Amino acid sequence: MNNILITLDYELFFGSKVGTLENCILTPTSKLLNILDKYGIKATFFVDSGYLVKLEELKEQFPILEKEYDAISSQIKELDRDGHSIQLHIHPHWEDSSFDGERWIIDTKRYRLHQFSEEEIDNIVYRYKKVLTDMVGDKIFAHRAGGWCIQPFSKIKNALKKHNIFLDSTLFKNGKNDSQTHYFDFKDMPDKTEWRFEDDPLKESKNGFFKEVPISDYKLSPLFFWKLVYIKKFGGAEHQPFGDGLATGGSRLDKLRMLTTYTHSVVSIDGFKSSFLEKAYQSFLKRRDCKNFVVIGHPKAMSGYSFKKLERFLLDNKNRNYITLRSFENEL
Ligand SMILES: [Zn+2]
Repeated sequence: MNNILITLDYELFFGSKVGTLENCILTPTSKLLNILDKYGIKATFFVDSGYLVKLEELKEQFPILEKEYDAISSQIKELDRDGHSIQLHIHPHWEDSSFDGERWIIDTKRYRLHQFSEEEIDNIVYRYKKVLTDMVGDKIFAHRAGGWCIQPFSKIKNALKKHNIFLDSTLFKNGKNDSQTHYFDFKDMPDKTEWRFEDDPLKESKNGFFKEVPISDYKLSPLFFWKLVYIKKFGGAEHQPFGDGLATGGSRLDKLRMLTTYTHSVVSIDGFKSSFLEKAYQSFLKRRDCKNFVVIGHPKAMSGYSFKKLERFLLDNKNRNYITLRSFENEL
């Protein structure tokens, strides 16, 4: 029997406008929970814990941040209590960002973890894991790299290993991005839905310390992006995402590429991407290895439309085996 995992990157935006905790995280997450609870389904939340570390550090100084800290930690604790899995999502640009009393001044010059020294990386993994452990206990063993930037893995390997982060769920087939902030290339990843690795997540190593459980992917025709352009302009309120921040957009070249050739996307419940959820699942079931169907979502990017699509999917696939990463806990 195959498994379905619903995984969320629980975070604000990163550009000039990060958005509010309420609209990017708290409200869409509780709307999501209303749906999941109806079907008794648990999810995995990859928490942007750099944000929590910053809140913790600055909450004495700014009462407004203390309120945010209390609100977000109570939602995280509630998620954990209800059986969802809380795991680690690392966006290290928080290290260089500050709060001016009213807003966050976000600095993404070091967006990738790899732009820090190995000693700093060790310290970041330690602190970002600890802030979660302090909230939910000793159950943090999985990681999703911020912006999919996990390569070269050799630079972050020791830090993850030292802090017992043995599971990764970052890769997706044919994923590729090389921009000013991002770098990743998953073209040669194994055609499987889980495997062990040691030095490089793209290379299976049977007795490796780490385990990869990649995000599922779906091949998109240019037509999808033409529709997306249309929906953004004329879609109305149903297609409006909950998050009130601004996404750092891809390059013009990337956009042009998407509108003209086939591209690979993660299977997602964000906005209009949720329109291919069921089709992606059907094509996943035809694969030779179809053990884990891993869906990604971001509360900030969800919309009325995507909640509707998600609910339709859950209704049509009621008797499937929904799991969280908690099922992998003992595989270290
Ligand atoms: Zn993220």
